[in-house]
Amino acid sequence: MSTTVDEVALEGDLAQCLAGIGRCFARAALASSLSVEDMVLTHAIVAADAPIDVFVIDTGRLHAETRALIERTRVRYGRELQVIRPDAQQVDAYVAEHGLNSFYESVALRHRCCELRKVEPLQRALAGRDAWLTGQRRAHGPERASLALEESDAARGIAKFNPLALWSDEAVWAFARRHDVPVNPLHARGYPSIGCEPCTRAIKPGEPMRAGRWWWEADGGKKECGLHLPAASVTPVPAERPRPLDGYVAQLTRRLKEDPWGGA
Ligand code: SF4
Repeated sequence: MSTTVDEVALEGDLAQCLAGIGRCFARAALASSLSVEDMVLTHAIVAADAPIDVFVIDTGRLHAETRALIERTRVRYGRELQVIRPDAQQVDAYVAEHGLNSFYESVALRHRCCELRKVEPLQRALAGRDAWLTGQRRAHGPERASLALEESDAARGIAKFNPLALWSDEAVWAFARRHDVPVNPLHARGYPSIGCEPCTRAIKPGEPMRAGRWWWEADGGKKECGLHLPAASVTPVPAERPRPLDGYVAQLTRRLKEDPWGGA
């Protein structure tokens, strides 16, 4: 489905938004999962020459296609992604005690695995930073339906931005196609949301976008891994904090009013 929103204007808004974040926050970084959204943001950061770092958490359980995208990104943009890995000793101890794939046995063991392989590396990656960016969108599912473009990550005392929060699937893919952004080939094989290899399956037609994540759990552990828990860590943006997204939010709101995109 094609979108009728003014894509060029939308792109300009995003470039302004990223430049604004780079201006206001000296140590900002995109936490890239190498999803199509994060690849769009990586492209936009490079195109806008915004001083925003990009890092990837290699959990040790990623698909080969996902790992290959790290190198494809380097070749495409001439830019190294910072690759953060879990603490090997902690992972080894967990595997020795519970087994390599014990995340299938209980939600608690799955959360512990995510904590070791994702959350702890994220903590390290964000240490000393003043802001982080994500590719989360409201269209990802009910857990993210009220996602804000800018938040305050109170647990870490830093700012958090979701510049694509209101973008539709169509807008994201139109951007990726227009700029020949490298994307994970798994997207074309039924994986709209890609996590670790043993914890992600392709979805069936009509299933929600994140239905393939932790599919064996009754409620998918709420389909989150602990990296983004709004209720636990996100609070309204403090009044005194710089607001680089003010103009972006206003422009997006206006565009959505004029053309709701259907899916956003
Ligand atoms: S997604 Fe699966 S393999 Fe990856 S960290 Fe979480 S439980 Fe472990």
